[in-house]
Amino acid sequence: MDNCIFCKIAAKQIPSTIVYEDDDLLAFKDINPAAPVHLLLIPKRHVATLSDCDDSHVDLLGKLLRLAPRLAAEFGCAVSMDADGVPSGGFKTLINSGPDGGQEVYHLHLHMYGGPRPWRNQH
Ligand code: 5GP
Ligand code: ZN
Repeated sequence: MDNCIFCKIAAKQIPSTIVYEDDDLLAFKDINPAAPVHLLLIPKRHVATLSDCDDSHVDLLGKLLRLAPRLAAEFGCAVSMDADGVPSGGFKTLINSGPDGGQEVYHLHLHMYGGPRPWRNQH
């Protein structure tokens, strides 16, 4: 997509801090982080919204969701349990879809927020 900022990031036409890349996916730091760790995980191929996904996207969506806990672990945000079963750490994943869903960039992306709280208000 010619005018898509995340396609341009995926094509390395505009700079970003890339933290993961494979044939299908890219992950980079959000330019305006709402938490100590705030990554955006995207498919390299343009998909505008989650509403544009059908059965042909199941594999891609699985890979996208699977990447979140891998990067959470890498960035020190994995959920862990102590010996008494008390959890600590953790992260939030979010996909905004459409105007009512608060989507601003129309290239499918999964937000991954983590790190010690407090985070910015609405998150
Ligand atoms: P949305 O509201 O669409 O779910 O989230 C879009 C996110 O993309 C926002 O958190 C915003 O800070 C981030 N963003 C917008 N433009 C850029 C950019 O050029 N580079 C990076 N790294 N993040 C961006
Ligand atoms: Zn795009």
